[in-house]
Amino acid sequence: MVPPDVFEEIWQKVLENIKNEVGEKTYNTWFNEFLPQTYIHNCLKISVPSKFIKDWLEKNFYHTIYKIVKTYFPEIKTIEFVVNSSTNSYVIKQKSTVIKRLQSLALKSHQKLSIFDVNPQTNLNPRYRFDNFVVGKSNELAFSACQAVVKNLGNLHNPLFIYGPVGVGKTHLLQATGNEILKIYKNLKIKYLTTEDFTNQYINAIKNQTTEEFRFKFRDIDVLILDDVHFLSGKISTQEELFHTFNFLYNLSKQIIFSSDRPPFLIPDIEERLKSRFEGGLVVDINPPDFETRVAILKLKSQERGVVFDDFVYEYIAEKFTNNIRELEGALSLVIFESKFVDKLTPEKLKEILKKFTKEQFNKFTPKKIIKTLLSHYEIKEEDIIKQIRSKHLVKIRQILIYFLREYSHLSYTSIAEIFKKDHTTIIYSYEKIVKELKENENLKQEIEIIKSKLLEN
Ligand code: ADP
Ligand code: MG
Repeated sequence: MVPPDVFEEIWQKVLENIKNEVGEKTYNTWFNEFLPQTYIHNCLKISVPSKFIKDWLEKNFYHTIYKIVKTYFPEIKTIEFVVNSSTNSYVIKQKSTVIKRLQSLALKSHQKLSIFDVNPQTNLNPRYRFDNFVVGKSNELAFSACQAVVKNLGNLHNPLFIYGPVGVGKTHLLQATGNEILKIYKNLKIKYLTTEDFTNQYINAIKNQTTEEFRFKFRDIDVLILDDVHFLSGKISTQEELFHTFNFLYNLSKQIIFSSDRPPFLIPDIEERLKSRFEGGLVVDINPPDFETRVAILKLKSQERGVVFDDFVYEYIAEKFTNNIRELEGALSLVIFESKFVDKLTPEKLKEILKKFTKEQFNKFTPKKIIKTLLSHYEIKEEDIIKQIRSKHLVKIRQILIYFLREYSHLSYTSIAEIFKKDHTTIIYSYEKIVKELKENENLKQEIEIIKSKLLEN
C-alpha cells in the first residue's frame, strides 16, 4: 500500500500560508522545524525544537497558525506545540497511525477543496474528465456520443440527451464533455448547470424583473449543458423559457446537452413541444455498470487517492455494491480510511468493515421511508395507495410498493397485508408478479433502479 503524498502537499500549503502571513524572515527563524507529531481526539500536536520557540510561537502566532491549519484540516479542534529534540524523526512515509490519520484527514480536506476549483463562468469542475471515466458496456454509447459531440459541435447530435438512474456517471460525463470542449476551443462560452439552478435563476429573474438579462445570459452561449432535466416536471413557465432558449441556441447551431433520470417520454408533466425537442437529436442511456466496470472504477478511484489494494478488495466491494457508483465510492472511502488502522487488510477484516456500511445502506429501510420515497417518486398521495382504486396505474404502483416493502424492509407478508388492508395471498401475488416482470421488462427494471437510488440518496 503506497501512502499518498497528498498530506505532504497540503502540509506544504499550510507552511506556505504561514510564510505569507508572517513574512519570510520570521518564518525562517521560528518555523524551521515545525512538524506535525500526533493527532489524537481532534488535537494536533506540532513539534518544535525548543521550549523557547514553543513559548514564543504560543505568545505571538497561535491564532495565525490555528486559523491556517484549520482551513486545510477542518476537523482539527485544538493545536498544541510540543518540544521535541529529535524532530527529524518525523518521516512522512513512516507507518505510524498518527501520520495515517492525518493523511486521511488531508484526503478529506483535499476533496473538499476541489469544490473551489469549479470555474465560476462555466461551472465546470476539472475533476471530471474523459480520461478518468471508466468505459464499459453500460456507458460506452453515451461516452462515444459525448466524444462525437466534441468533434462535431452543434451539428451531429444536437441536442444530445443522456439518461440513466442516479449515480451512474451522467454528471461526470456531461462535465467531462464541457471540460474537453473548453480544452480544444478556449474561446467558446460553455455553461453547465443543473436544471434546478436554471429554474431558480429564472424564478429570481421574474421576481426581480430581470428576465431580459436572464434571456441575454442564456442566449449568449455556445454550449449549453443542462443536467437533470426531469426536474422540469410540472414547472410550466420554466419549461416555456427553456423551450425558447433552446430554439434560439439551436437555430444558431449551438450545441446543447441534456441529462435526465429517465427518457423524455417518461418525464411526467412536460410540454409536448419541449419533449419533442429533447428527442430531436440523439437519446442514449447509461446503465449501472457491470462487475468488470465496477472493479475498474474502484481501481481507478483508489489509484487517484494514492492507494493500492489487493484485487480481492476491489472484487469484494464490486460484488456487494451493484448499481450506484457513488455508493461504490463511499464503500471504498470507508475501506481506505479503516485500512489505515489495521496492519494487514484480510478478507475477514474487509468483510467486517463493510458489514456496518452495507447494513446501514441496505435491507434496513423503514417501511415509512420506502412509502415516502415511492409516493414522492410517483407524485401521488397516501390515500391513493390505500384506497381500493383500481386504475391500472395505481395498481402497478401498489405492486411495486409491495415489492419494495418485501425486498427492502423487514416486514412480513402478513404485516404488509395489514398496511394494504388485503389478505396476504394478494400481497404474495403482487410481489411475485413484479419479480417475474423484472426478468423481462427493461423499463420496469430501470424504474426500480431509480427508486432504489432515491432510497439511498435520501
Ligand atoms: P449521476 O450524475 O448519474 O448521478 P455522477 O456523475 O454524479 O452520477 O457519478 C457519481 C460518482 O461516480 C462520481 O464521483 C463520478 O465521478 C463517479 N463515476 C460514475 N461513473 C464513472 C465512470 N464510468 N468512471 C469513473 N467514475 C465514475
Ligand atoms: Mg448527476
